[in-house]
Amino acid sequence: MRYISKGESPDFFEKEKQLLVDDPAWDNLHCKRELRLHLIKEQKALCVYCERGIDDANSHIEHLFAQSDNPAKRFEYDNLVASCNGDQCVSASKDSYKPEDVHSCGHKKSDDLDVDKFLNPIVHSDIAHYFVYDKERCSIYASGKDAEKAIYTIKLLNLDNHRLNNERANARLALEKTVKMYPDRKEKIRFLLSKERAFISFLRHYFSPFLAELP
Ligand SMILES: [Zn+2]
Repeated sequence: MRYISKGESPDFFEKEKQLLVDDPAWDNLHCKRELRLHLIKEQKALCVYCERGIDDANSHIEHLFAQSDNPAKRFEYDNLVASCNGDQCVSASKDSYKPEDVHSCGHKKSDDLDVDKFLNPIVHSDIAHYFVYDKERCSIYASGKDAEKAIYTIKLLNLDNHRLNNERANARLALEKTVKMYPDRKEKIRFLLSKERAFISFLRHYFSPFLAELP
């Protein structure tokens, strides 16, 4: 997971919110798609939780604090982020995974959130430091920094599952393939990792020793 720096709430959303004061149901909001696209752009087209690539077809608006328990935060811009749809993102390979490996992120997160344990990606600017990755399995685990919170958050969102671990491995292989043809691989990797891309936290973790070792 990585820190999401929230920008200003867009005008079209703020304007429509004013019309919903008397009947503030989420379904009454008509600009949901426009808002979702705005959130996707704000997050550099990556899921707020697992960091897989998201677009119009495979994402939803996620309430960090569930509407049911926090109706006052329903239309609060700082409570809204874009999440992937977990299993629906990989419909072609869905059948090859066990049920426990397909659900993750916003659709996996339960509404009865323990706010004291949840690592909120728009609050903790150092959130990346709570997690590390296994280089062989490409799985995510707690770094040791407030491990209880990290373990709770990984489990809550099911970030350590075979599907995501395979996707992280594929992102690593794709990057290695891309840089293979470049004479200065180190510089190319540095350049690629300086930008946001799918599973960027894992890739930065994986390649950092390699970059440090090379002259
Ligand atoms: Zn996700």
